[in-house]
Order: sequence, then C-alpha cells, then structure tokens
Amino acid sequence: MINAHIVGLDDSLLCPVSAGHFLTSVTAAAFLNMSQAALQDGIHIAIASSYRSFDRQAMIWNRKFRGEAVVYDSNGEPIADWLSLPFRERIFAILRWSALPGASRHHWGTDLDVYAPNLLPAGQKLQLIPAEYDEQNGYFSDLTKWLNENMRQFGFFRPYAFDNGGVAQEPWHLSFYPEAVQFQQQLTTEMLTQVLVTHPLEGQHEILQAIPEIMGRYIMNICKDN
Ligand SMILES: [Zn+2]
Repeated sequence: MINAHIVGLDDSLLCPVSAGHFLTSVTAAAFLNMSQAALQDGIHIAIASSYRSFDRQAMIWNRKFRGEAVVYDSNGEPIADWLSLPFRERIFAILRWSALPGASRHHWGTDLDVYAPNLLPAGQKLQLIPAEYDEQNGYFSDLTKWLNENMRQFGFFRPYAFDNGGVAQEPWHLSFYPEAVQFQQQLTTEMLTQVLVTHPLEGQHEILQAIPEIMGRYIMNICKDN
C-alpha cells in the first residue's frame, strides 16, 4: 500500500513554518526552538527549501532528463552531450544532485535546507554549494559551527554530511531524526515501485529496473550521526 505522505502525494499533515515553507508540526516546533536558540547566539537560521511535493520533484526530474535544465557532473561541470547519454546514465547523473520523485526526504516534512541570511555577504546570492558552508573558510562557517555544536540537542542531523558515493555532499540539508527515521523505514522498494508505476516519469522503464539499486545507494545510504 502507498503511504501518500511518505511519497509526497499528500501534504495534509504539514503546517506552515515561514513564508512558503511547510514541515510536520513536530519538526516545525523543533526547528523553531532551534532557530530561537541560534538567534540568541547571533545566528539567523533561515529556510531555503523545506517540503516539496512529488509533482514539484517530478517537474525538476523531467526538466533535467529532457535536457531543459543543466545537469552537472561530480566536479560541478555541466555534462556535455546530455541527450546522447543512455537513459540509465542520465538517471544516475541526476541522482547525484536531485532525488527521485517519490523518494525525496523533502517529501516528508522532516527535512529542510538552511542558510544564514545575516552571514551572506551583501549582493551575494545563495548558491547552496559546500564551499559556502566550509567550517574554516565559508561565509556560513559560524552557522556550520553552531549547528555542529547544537543541532543534535534539538533532534537534527545531516544525512548528506559527506559524499558516500550516493547523493553529493549537502551540508545545508538538515533532517529531524525522531520522525525522519520512521518515515525512512516506511519507504519500501515495493511502495516506490507502485508510486512510479502510477505516476510515470521520464526514464520510467530504466528507473523501474534500477529501483533496488537506487534505494540502496541514494536512500538508505545516508550519514547517520552528523
Ligand atoms: Zn535538501
């Protein structure tokens, strides 16, 4: 059976946390507690991205697959001759940077991308690249250090703290462990297959063949305590 919430097809469990951003009520409360504590230490934690629906993720996926949006290699260079790549190669290239619709942690309302607007240099646009969050040299270094010291007591961890050969490093991505751990357990290969059969994506045939591999490498393969 499909749990519509886990796969981004039902947002009725979510509540607004700031303009345009939605989380579960429990995660929202934990995040607000954490951001209030950070503010007392002079750090304004803002949300760049929070809940994302299956449809929104499918739009991102399909645009990349069709070559309407640029896909980067692991060194951050745009991949040349994209449309000449076999479908399977396109799928795994996209998965470095974008989750498979139905399998994004952003569907759950427990995961969010954060930054610190008060540490962003004037005129600088947020890029969401690891260099910005570098503990020594990034302009968000104070945010990174604060999170390293404090986020666990509020229940948050970084599932993509390091590059484990699946999803690329995303130091900005936080997850509320007490809820996310349960949602992750509920997402099975069977459920994901069922969702994609009923909600087809670009690359459908090759995606369905690769689901067990995708589950192992991009969904289960997270950093546990960061
Ligand atoms: Zn994220």
